[in-house]
Amino acid sequence: MPSFDQRDGYIWLDGQLVAWREAQLHVLSHGLHYASCVFEGNRAYNGEIFRLTDHSQRLIDSAMFLDMSIPYSRDELDEACQQVLRANNLTDGYLRPVAWRGSEMMAVSAQDTTIHVAIAAWTWPSYFNPEIKTRGIRMQTSSWRRPAPDTSPTQAKWAGGYAILTLAKHRAEKEGYQDALTLDYRGNVAEATGANIFLIIDGVLHTPDPDSFLNGLTRQTILTLAQELQIPVRVRRIAPAELAQAQEVFIVGTAAEVTPVGCIDDLTFTPGDITKRLSEAYSDTVRSKPAKQ
Ligand code: PMP
Repeated sequence: MPSFDQRDGYIWLDGQLVAWREAQLHVLSHGLHYASCVFEGNRAYNGEIFRLTDHSQRLIDSAMFLDMSIPYSRDELDEACQQVLRANNLTDGYLRPVAWRGSEMMAVSAQDTTIHVAIAAWTWPSYFNPEIKTRGIRMQTSSWRRPAPDTSPTQAKWAGGYAILTLAKHRAEKEGYQDALTLDYRGNVAEATGANIFLIIDGVLHTPDPDSFLNGLTRQTILTLAQELQIPVRVRRIAPAELAQAQEVFIVGTAAEVTPVGCIDDLTFTPGDITKRLSEAYSDTVRSKPAKQ
């Protein structure tokens, strides 16, 4: 695959579609130096962007947590995402809206910088290799902990929050795993590096309370589907020692969708019936047309 700056197509940049290779920013951009940058990850199925408005709202909210005001309304962002999909002739793909502070000021304080917004889209069939996905991915518990809500804007999907996730994932990959499991600042189970986690213990679905990490939209969809399928759910703090009681584990996210986990460190899990039912239900939901409002 060519590098991400060397592709054909169109990117929406500050209100208009520009040729892919022309969508550039200056090296002295505040977003690059100080992580004043928030982003989204959306997926389109059969021409429909799943939970589009929720993603656009989250971009606006993430920016607000970083004291940035996105100069477009939620409806304008929705429309821009649809425009990008059409311009690139995609019906199934991944979209990446991103907003960052510009170059007018180059210091910690950046009150008067322009807030730029760009949206790109590309085909991205599976986050993990499909064969590995069937058996379940191998995860390694990271030594990096997620920060407490009073030390970082933990509800924002912002660039800076990903620094430790990249470190955790690099280490896991170097040691033969596909992803890392992070613990929160108290030492409880938090999430994967780009997805939320669920455990099945004796027929009950357990997932950590997202009080210090992203309450993913996929996580929320899975909780609704579990209710519809009458699978009992417990949202609570989960100690790492409790992972040993789980029969099935899976992670969920827009990119990862529902991905079974085959092992975490020395513990092994077998993707089973509940993972399969929820994975199928998720796959049906993202492909069903939303009701017109
Ligand atoms: N946690 C992290 C750190 C993520 O990057 C993502 C992906 N956006 C998620 C959780 C899952 O969020 P969502 O289901 O909204 O994609």
